[in-house]
Amino acid sequence: MAAFGGTVQLAVTDNRRRMVTHTKARGTLRVRVHMMFLGAPDRVLEALVTYVVNANRQASQTVGDYIDQNLHRIRASRVVPGPLRTRGEVHDLVEILGELNHEYFSGVLANVLITWGKQTRPVRSTRARRSIKLGSYSAIERLIRVHPVLDRSWVPRYFVKYIVFHELLHHVLPEVRVGSRTLLHPAEFMRREREFRQYERAVAWECRHIDRLLRAR
Ligand SMILES: [Zn+2]
Repeated sequence: MAAFGGTVQLAVTDNRRRMVTHTKARGTLRVRVHMMFLGAPDRVLEALVTYVVNANRQASQTVGDYIDQNLHRIRASRVVPGPLRTRGEVHDLVEILGELNHEYFSGVLANVLITWGKQTRPVRSTRARRSIKLGSYSAIERLIRVHPVLDRSWVPRYFVKYIVFHELLHHVLPEVRVGSRTLLHPAEFMRREREFRQYERAVAWECRHIDRLLRAR
């Protein structure tokens, strides 16, 4: 943040209409930016400061391009079909989402939806699944789906929370394109994921219970 001589305070919002706002007072520059900038590359963050400080045209262009590329993260472009089921028999997803928002995102996430996914059973009920997707995030719906197999009393709450945290990071951090490849879990994603307080515990639990999850119905 060398572009500005004084102090820069950065706050993140989930405001849909105003991507960047700022005020200057007594040598302190306060900048509020949309949470889409959380995963922005340094080049974009530098342009953001230059834009705010100098109203520089090229910086404005760089920031504008970044906003255009990330517009899908501002609003859902598809309406979610059907009612959302957030309250399971054991775990309440809205409660978990609220805690994560508060503990890891300063409470700024306002437009993300969550639901238990549809029940799927192993193809033949005596056989285990080959794989299981415990959570997913749809950017066009802004919706996190959690596999209903996690709504069991033998599944600890911290594990469900870990799955929701992972999907929330997809909501917050953009995919990274490298040539023709898309990295869903770039280095920054992996670093942020390890900030989850029960990360080691959750990963260990998954290892120990994957067979049971594959067989569960
Ligand atoms: Zn993922």
